[in-house]
Amino acid sequence: MNDPVLTIVVPCFNEEEVLPETIYELHQLLIELIKEKLISNKSKLLFVDDGSRDRTWELIYKEGLSNDYVRGLKLSRNVGHQNALLAGLFSAKNAADCVISIDADLQDDIQVIREFIQKFNEGNEIVYGVRKCRDTDTFFKRFTAQGFYKVMKTLGVDLVYNHADFRLMSRRAIGELERFNEVNLFLRGIVPLIGFHSTSVYYDRKERQAGESKYPLKKMLSFAFDGITSFSVTPIRLVLLLGFVSFFVSLLCGLYFLTLKFIGETQTGWTSLITSIWLIGGLQLIAVGLIGEYVGKIYKETKQRPKYIVDIDMFNMGMPKLKNSPNDEELIHLRQNSMEVKELS
Ligand code: UDP
Ligand code: MG
Repeated sequence: MNDPVLTIVVPCFNEEEVLPETIYELHQLLIELIKEKLISNKSKLLFVDDGSRDRTWELIYKEGLSNDYVRGLKLSRNVGHQNALLAGLFSAKNAADCVISIDADLQDDIQVIREFIQKFNEGNEIVYGVRKCRDTDTFFKRFTAQGFYKVMKTLGVDLVYNHADFRLMSRRAIGELERFNEVNLFLRGIVPLIGFHSTSVYYDRKERQAGESKYPLKKMLSFAFDGITSFSVTPIRLVLLLGFVSFFVSLLCGLYFLTLKFIGETQTGWTSLITSIWLIGGLQLIAVGLIGEYVGKIYKETKQRPKYIVDIDMFNMGMPKLKNSPNDEELIHLRQNSMEVKELS
């Protein structure tokens, strides 16, 4: 295989303080990788300006004029990290064999990018950068992040533990990502659903080099809530369950309250009042939960997610002439052919 063309996508929101350093370091790395013949010299850095209000775009634009490895994409307004990332991935896709996404603050170790490429050349189409530990986080961030992973796991969502958006994806994987039509795209949940051959690379995360976090508590909570509600209807189910529980509790309490009445230990009117409060409360929750079940179905339908993703298409491509089952290199070749068939169709 020829050296793959790599594009590194960097979403930036008000990053003027850290950007010059980021551009410098990524540029150095790109040149090293090209020299080592790990990647093609057509590789690029793509900086996505997510509606910054500072000099971020100016910096990207000026660098792009003099540096052939640097490209910029300016979004019309701030659309958030996930959407900015998608804009970058989709624009980079056609000109690259693989795309790596990384945050502008260089908290992720750029040296492991080398390992990403090696894993890609070995036939992995998705490589996740996974943090070894969370020592550099504040106690609060560590605690909330771990809680989030636990909740997601209980709700049945398959996430790669301690993986943020530092990852490599092949052109084909991004092509499949484009078929997820939902508006609320929670990338960390969606990417594992693509299902192609994938692996993880471990690294230590550093402190932010300059500037401050663009994820204040409010954004973090809304990100987590989006993640949960775009992947799971379990919260709706819990309402239904709660309805059933309070309905049965109301029956038991009803019996208890009636007993109290017959023993004569209650005020007049109390028994009927308290029993109906419990009963109606339970019935209402059941009703809301039932409606929720239908809303949940509509919600799943409106997402129009692809029902399946083809890995190797031996039907449209014709059968390869292999004596034994294919080895890794032949598998890579088969996948490339499958991609060509798909692009032609
Ligand atoms: N970011 C973005 N749009 C936003 C918020 C953040 O493109 O609305 C970018 C930001 O410039 C950075 C990345 O997303 O490159 C991650 O943000 P940050 O480092 O502030 O998050 P943290 O590491 O604190 O979770
Ligand atoms: Mg950061």
